[in-house]
Amino acid sequence: MKKDIHPKYEIATISCACGNTIEVGSTKSDIKIEICSKCHPFFTGKQKLIDTAGRIERFRKKYEKYQNNNN
Ligand SMILES: [Zn+2]
Repeated sequence: MKKDIHPKYEIATISCACGNTIEVGSTKSDIKIEICSKCHPFFTGKQKLIDTAGRIERFRKKYEKYQNNNN
């Protein structure tokens, strides 16, 4: 019979790039993430403007191409 086949379950601290930390039960002691529920665009809406700008940029390029095709 093998003993200690289950990894140690302890509280891990997830550190996000935004500075937010979350404590969760995990087998890992320290986790680093780049996005969390506090800074995720879905929750903050802050990056929505950046996404919108990207869409406008893509549309503009597509429109320029369309214009060039008509010349
Ligand atoms: Zn975050």
